[in-house]
Amino acid sequence: MAFAYAPAPESRAVVDIAPSYGLFIDGEFREAAGGKVFKSISPSSEEVLSEVAHAGGDDVDAAVKAARTAYSSWSALPGAERGKYLFRIARIIQERSRELAVLESLDNGKPIRESRDTDLPLVAAHFFYYAGWADKLSYAGWGPDPRPLGVAGQVIPWNFPLLMLAWKVAPALACGNTVVLKPAETTPLSALFFADICRQAGLPKGVVNILTGDGSTGAELVAHPGIDKVAFTGSTEVGKAIARTVAGTDKKLTLELGGKAANIVFDDAPVDQAVEGIVNGIFFNQGHVCCAGSRLLVQESVADEVLDSLKRRMATLRVGDPLDKNTDIGAINSAEQLARITALADSGEAEGAERWAPACELPSTGFWFAPTLFTGVTQAHRIAREEIFGPVLSVLTFRTPAEAVEKANNTPYGLSAGIWTEKGSRILWMADKLRAGVVWANTFNKFDPTSPFGGFKESGFGREGGRHGLEAYLNV
Ligand code: NAD
Repeated sequence: MAFAYAPAPESRAVVDIAPSYGLFIDGEFREAAGGKVFKSISPSSEEVLSEVAHAGGDDVDAAVKAARTAYSSWSALPGAERGKYLFRIARIIQERSRELAVLESLDNGKPIRESRDTDLPLVAAHFFYYAGWADKLSYAGWGPDPRPLGVAGQVIPWNFPLLMLAWKVAPALACGNTVVLKPAETTPLSALFFADICRQAGLPKGVVNILTGDGSTGAELVAHPGIDKVAFTGSTEVGKAIARTVAGTDKKLTLELGGKAANIVFDDAPVDQAVEGIVNGIFFNQGHVCCAGSRLLVQESVADEVLDSLKRRMATLRVGDPLDKNTDIGAINSAEQLARITALADSGEAEGAERWAPACELPSTGFWFAPTLFTGVTQAHRIAREEIFGPVLSVLTFRTPAEAVEKANNTPYGLSAGIWTEKGSRILWMADKLRAGVVWANTFNKFDPTSPFGGFKESGFGREGGRHGLEAYLNV
């Protein structure tokens, strides 16, 4: 029996977006020195949400100076006092989480169910977790008085705007650094709301500065001589450019870059459970996930059964309004990203792979891509090698565990991997052989502030999260 579909819209009215926003420098919002602005557009409706200041070199300079001035008193505060600010920020995030979830879904395009149940709880959890560390740094094995690095320049992508901010800002502040953060140009709004939360929490001015702008702003920030530490999350291409900028300076650098994760299903895995994991692995957040399980490696003997079941499940996925609580797949973040996904998917067909997507009606305005899978994929195909960063799954098969490892590792990336099997010994054997910073077993896309996250190979270096995440912001 088919179930009737009843839309369950979250209220747009819970968030009050101003028509324009300035840069957040030294505790105040101000226009960009050059007066430049850009528009933040909702990818699901193409509505202009707000006009945002575009920071140039003078603004970078002002923000770094403010952070430098704030550093002397912030770094001298007892850890317990810094922790109190972080706890306060965490609690305000919880109190304002509905508003922030709606904002994130409007600006990014992600389903409200995900921003409400995944992004926002994790954002608060990271601030709570690092608040707890602020007064314990002397007891973590780094000596009696580990020192912060100074001013951190942080550049983040658009896929989890507020969560990527939390990954970076919370540990930096806990350790006594001050920050200048640049959000992505397609999703600047939640970082600006975070600036307001910093004011609400009474955070001393200059400890957190937010510069909205594009790649040119990011490039100015990482090159600024007043920055002591650069933390970047984004594409491997830009990460390499940043590494070149930072090379030869005394700046510390961490890079969280792209991925092409294998999600490996063995013949003993419960099919229904594995299919849920495959769907979550590639369609969560429209596949705009650095650790997305974008390559399904399925054991040949169960490939037909798994694919049949996967297609049936994909046919139930609802693509549409991010503010509808029933939506499984929201909007693609930008027209540019949609063009990139489309071009790569087209290359799959042109190179001879077989494309399949369930019949689904996509909205007529906004940026959309149906959940898609490719079979008949070889390791030489672009869709098997390049990060698509969209809801597109490439399916390959294997016969033996050794062949699965060989195929999984046959990528320049090394961020994450998943294994589905009932055999514990196989999980341990595989986890040891897979060149990936995170290996999930019988689950996928699980995050926790206590666990370090980061890549091997071209997925970057350094770890965020957990105790390891603090090392990126301390002289240890
Ligand atoms: P991107 O590299 O284009 O942009 C990321 C950020 O860098 C943006 O804020 C952008 O304005 C800025 N930027 C662009 N050029 C710059 C330059 N020359 N110097 C300094 N800053 C610059 O990436 P994106 O398209 O926004 O994000 C998608 C990418 O991010 C994917 O490759 C994804 O895998 C990766 N990512 C990685 C992780 C991780 O933890 N490893 C997490 C999320 C996303």
